[in-house]
Amino acid sequence: MSKVLVLNASYEPLNITSWRRAIVLLLKGKAEQVEHNGKCVYSDFPLPTVIRLRHYVRVPYKEIPLTRRNILHRDSHSCQYCGYTGDDLTLDHVIPRSRGGDDSWENIVTACVRCNVKKGNRTPKEANMPLDYPPRKPHSGLYFEVTKHVKNGGHQEWRKYVIGI
Ligand SMILES: [Zn+2]
Repeated sequence: MSKVLVLNASYEPLNITSWRRAIVLLLKGKAEQVEHNGKCVYSDFPLPTVIRLRHYVRVPYKEIPLTRRNILHRDSHSCQYCGYTGDDLTLDHVIPRSRGGDDSWENIVTACVRCNVKKGNRTPKEANMPLDYPPRKPHSGLYFEVTKHVKNGGHQEWRKYVIGI
């Protein structure tokens, strides 16, 4: 069921929550409804899609898990060597593991099967396959989650609250 974007009192995106939790926050008066999708959960109670907290909260930084799905999302589902987008995408260790490369945001990129095979057990320099952009750790966990939701086709109304999507 539908997810709800929670904004801080400052209108900055804070987290993503379930619609049930969002309704509890609204009923308790801890948040106000900013956007809804017109569907009613209860009579006269439209299902919220964006809510805003009445009081500002400070949030600690949240780590983004290093997963295949998240790396593909960071790389916009495209091969970082040739730009290919399609189904045959793999993960490539920039510095191969056998050469001391680690599992990290900075050392794993999306690569198509062809590039992965061609590069083999070499560094980009040895293989003469430079990366267009050095791979980086995404800086905001929430921003990352929100863009993932929006790019997967849901919640277009979230766009106006998140800069740069
Ligand atoms: Zn490629």
